[in-house]
Amino acid sequence: MFRDLLIPEELWEKVLQKSLKKEKGESTQISRNLIQKLVLKKLRKKRSVKKYRKYGVTRQDLQEIIEMAQLLGLEFFGGPSDFEIIQNHPEWCNNCGKCCRESTPIFIHRDELNPLLLFNPDLKNEIIANPAYPEHYKFKEDLPCKFHDIEDKKCSIYDSRPQVCQSYPLILVEVENKPHYIPHLQPDCNYIISLVLEKSMILFDESLKKLNSN
Ligand code: SF4
Ligand code: SF4
Repeated sequence: MFRDLLIPEELWEKVLQKSLKKEKGESTQISRNLIQKLVLKKLRKKRSVKKYRKYGVTRQDLQEIIEMAQLLGLEFFGGPSDFEIIQNHPEWCNNCGKCCRESTPIFIHRDELNPLLLFNPDLKNEIIANPAYPEHYKFKEDLPCKFHDIEDKKCSIYDSRPQVCQSYPLILVEVENKPHYIPHLQPDCNYIISLVLEKSMILFDESLKKLNSN
């Protein structure tokens, strides 16, 4: 019910097909399911179905809302982009360091290379070409990234870390020839769980408003 209030069914099907096409293999689907479970637990505390049962709200509505929050930016509904939301909530990152220990490859765009080497000449021998993406380079060692200080849980080149690290947990993809940030659906990242929860609450409130005005 909630999804129908916010997006025409035909359009939602298109979004779903597009995202399924983008998802490579089962792992993204598993991550999505896991995130949905984790967010649902938290969302039920913030927006109890019991309280809104008189409006016909069910657990299924909460699941639909979370699915939309995972696959669509709020700008689609006239709200802020994922990038804007994340910029306002640096506290969501709990510095677990998982992204620096387990992400590969760490992309460095060719436009970033010179400024990076200018401020960190020692990196010259640490960066190699990325044959899969000719416009990009990558760190020679990134599992874990050798610039991650495990004890301090800090990045030793923080001020000049690559763009991909600055925007994480959003990742840049090309959608219809335009660069677009989408969340990297990583269930172990508190940043991602908080982002999907925040968007789910906004979408829930918006649906309720629409329900009341109908
Ligand atoms: S995995 Fe997420 S929560 Fe952990 S350090 Fe990276 S961005 Fe922060
Ligand atoms: S460069 Fe810094 S922020 Fe990027 S993965 Fe390595 S340690 Fe993490």
